[in-house]
Amino acid sequence: MKIDHIGIATKQLEDGLAVWRDALGLQLDGTEEVAEQGVRIAMLQVGDTHIELLEPLNPDSPVGKFLAKRGPGIHHIAVEVPDIEAALAELKNKGARLIDETPRVGAGGCLVAFVHPSTTNGVLLELVQHR
Ligand code: ZN
Repeated sequence: MKIDHIGIATKQLEDGLAVWRDALGLQLDGTEEVAEQGVRIAMLQVGDTHIELLEPLNPDSPVGKFLAKRGPGIHHIAVEVPDIEAALAELKNKGARLIDETPRVGAGGCLVAFVHPSTTNGVLLELVQHR
């Protein structure tokens, strides 16, 4: 397992890119709209992991609500797992509260599922399985 990426909520991707790409010099891998989650994302490479900037497509999306409540900042941490179904089953078995009982297709065509921050020390956890 490894940290696949760290998700950072921004009002606009350009705000984040001005710092992470232009000032810090990280390489932008690409931008993508994930309509199902109501976000536009930008993936920046940091070693063998990534920073994922998140811009809400509308105020009612999960990231839109996060920004309204807490402002820009770290939104979630994503861990890459070899078998997302098995990881979800194990987490559920150990009492974790799952947002997604079954994986869905996320950015880059990966399988993703979110675990509620109430059972992960206040941090929204995303599981990612690359295909
Ligand atoms: Zn993510």
